[in-house]
Amino acid sequence: MARIVMKFGGTSVADMDRIRNVARHVKREVDAGHEVAVVVSAMSGKTNELVSWTRDASPMHDAREYDAVVASGEQVTSGLLAIALQHIGINARSWQGWQIPIRTDNAHGAARILEIDGTELIRRFGEGQVAVIAGFQGLGPDNRIATLGRGGSDTSAVAIAAAVKADRCDIYTDVDGVYTTDPRIEPKARRLKKVAFEEMLEMASLGAKVLQVRSVELAMVHKVRTFVRSSFEDPDAPGMGDLLNPPGTLICDEDEIVEQEVVTGIAYAKDEAQISLRRLADRPGVSAAIFGPLAEAHINVDMIVQNISEDGSKTDMTFTVPSTDVDKAMKVLSDAKDKIGYDVIQTESGLVKVSVIGIGMRSHAGVAASAFRALAEKGINIKAITTSEIKISILIDGAYAELAVRTLHSVYGLDKS
Ligand code: ASP
Ligand code: MG
Repeated sequence: MARIVMKFGGTSVADMDRIRNVARHVKREVDAGHEVAVVVSAMSGKTNELVSWTRDASPMHDAREYDAVVASGEQVTSGLLAIALQHIGINARSWQGWQIPIRTDNAHGAARILEIDGTELIRRFGEGQVAVIAGFQGLGPDNRIATLGRGGSDTSAVAIAAAVKADRCDIYTDVDGVYTTDPRIEPKARRLKKVAFEEMLEMASLGAKVLQVRSVELAMVHKVRTFVRSSFEDPDAPGMGDLLNPPGTLICDEDEIVEQEVVTGIAYAKDEAQISLRRLADRPGVSAAIFGPLAEAHINVDMIVQNISEDGSKTDMTFTVPSTDVDKAMKVLSDAKDKIGYDVIQTESGLVKVSVIGIGMRSHAGVAASAFRALAEKGINIKAITTSEIKISILIDGAYAELAVRTLHSVYGLDKS
């Protein structure tokens, strides 16, 4: 017997037929003798609709009332799934965030989970009852419903898995796992069996949008073994109920990954823009003068490259921002021109950041060199490079994005099964 948290996203509960299909997935695990808690999202498209209603009611609305409205999507699906489970003979009940309770902070619309009391859920597991929990919501210190930010039901699921000490947290979605790269760009992309938490964090923030980044951070801290798997497969197909290796990708501690490849995946982020400040004074405080005002304007700066100055007097600074923020950034920088003291400012939009990710590169030399050589052979010019222990990111012209992804995918042997 195991204790399993099963989370179903919006497309998996999009209508009654799909909710019935979800009920069959749950029944399979219950019939195998496991203790089960289910976390559901709102039906796909529902949260967007609810959000647009609050904007329509008033553009400057009260965030607490926003939460009262948008949390309702999950309330509906939790009740419907409980009914569908009861209909096929399973003892189930729905739980709203406040009933458990899932305690959050006061940041309505983007709340963080502070504490979950799992006692009552665990007691009911003992009675054979399945808990169907509304994701995305909790109870704030003001005793009002708080939501966790878009995509937050992944985080609800992982937090519940940690609170009830589940053996596994299964995230059922419309893809069947995490791939070595985007299969729409490289058809030879393969589904990964295991990905380390650290790698998944890099991939999630780089565009492999399978899981909310925060949920992966939480899973890493609490070492929650998390499976990404498809809800669209036949619930009773062979292997679906496998306890140790269900079909999908396991996101886990790196200790669990025995045969570590050097590179695990190639991610990319489109629509980046590069801003370069030329001939800045090379003195203490110059970076703070640039990035302070950008941060205050909530502009998310990504890659930052500073040149070493030739004689210690002047330097260049290049960094990237999302293309959508480039005008705003230029305005901020020109307002701060006197304080920063630069000569020329240049921008270029329509760039792409391609990243090579793998914890195996910590212990291997030459990983970056192979990427640079391969891109050079294809005539792709590199505009900026940043690295971390487990990632190499390369900024290139957007026109070469697909070629670069495919080239790097094959250089590191990810095509081979
Ligand atoms: N329904 C919420 C959203 O669309 C939460 C979620 O699906 O994870 O953002
Ligand atoms: Mg989601």
